Amino acid sequence: MIIVLKREASPEAAEQILARIADAGLKPLHMPGSERVVLGALGDERVLAELHLESDPMVEAVKPILAPYKLVSREMHPHDTIVRIGKVAIGGSSFKVIAGPCAVETREQLRGSALAAKAAGASAIRAGAYKPRTSPYGFSGHGPEGLKILREVGDELDMPVVTEIMDTADLDIVVEHADALQIGARNMQNFALLRAVGKAGKPVLLKRGMAAKIEDLLLAAEYLLAAGNDQVVLCERGIRTFETATRNTLDLNAVPYIKQKTHLPVVVDPSHGTGIRDLVIPMSLAAAACGADGILVEVHENPAVALSDGAQSLYPDQFRKLMAALEPVVRAVGRDFG
Ligand code: PEP
Ligand code: MN
Repeated sequence: MIIVLKREASPEAAEQILARIADAGLKPLHMPGSERVVLGALGDERVLAELHLESDPMVEAVKPILAPYKLVSREMHPHDTIVRIGKVAIGGSSFKVIAGPCAVETREQLRGSALAAKAAGASAIRAGAYKPRTSPYGFSGHGPEGLKILREVGDELDMPVVTEIMDTADLDIVVEHADALQIGARNMQNFALLRAVGKAGKPVLLKRGMAAKIEDLLLAAEYLLAAGNDQVVLCERGIRTFETATRNTLDLNAVPYIKQKTHLPVVVDPSHGTGIRDLVIPMSLAAAACGADGILVEVHENPAVALSDGAQSLYPDQFRKLMAALEPVVRAVGRDFG
């Protein structure tokens, strides 16, 4: 429930109400705004009803949060959340490009790809050391050795690094090496992983499952916030539909919808969303045009020999073209690469 306080309510009055909420065994939330203070109470609504907060002289209204997701909803938190991945801020008025090869293959491959990405204007590196592969015979990443290379290249280039975590057993080592943890499409509803990552104290990039509704994605994000982490970036990466011409169907409707319903930043992954490198530039421009806070793009120094996702990885030269083509679109929607 949302408890809107009267304009004249003092901070002490807010504290008292929060204490009553906590004493009743509910989770209290404090959301001071510029106009007035809004409080929240999460938990059994029957317990809250017994507190009769509507009759408190400092309370203007008690309203239910209609969305099933509470902490991620804009009703609860009207302002955009800015997520900080190292020194890079995602959300607000900037548009950020996170780039890198699908997987860490060798130090030279990661370094070459990341240097090209940085030179063209990418803000952060993303590459996998643990790769979810449909076939058990596919390259599944170098694990700890890949993490070490990723960290070293990130430090050398002074860029934050994002990498996927697939198993709670790897949490400590991934947290030690990465600036943000990616939860991939296949694990979006791995609730044990969501709970553990929510407590890990690192920003999270949460990708939409390939058969997940937007509401499923937002409820998955709710797990992270409920575990105490509001540093969550959502990622639209395409869903399975009857269409087979492209690897997935990039659901750009999701971007403005999610931006209206939640306060979390949203990025688009046109690489997995299309599966075809020549579609990555147009769909990146579309992502910027529809209000995304950034993109996640696969770029490889030599996609022809990539161990995973070569067909959708940009050549360095294409990545430079992408950045140049994005500039006027980003500007037209009132953003910058800041
Ligand atoms: C990836 O980012 O390389 C990846 C495996 O993505 P997704 O989980 O969206 O398939
Ligand atoms: Mn990939």
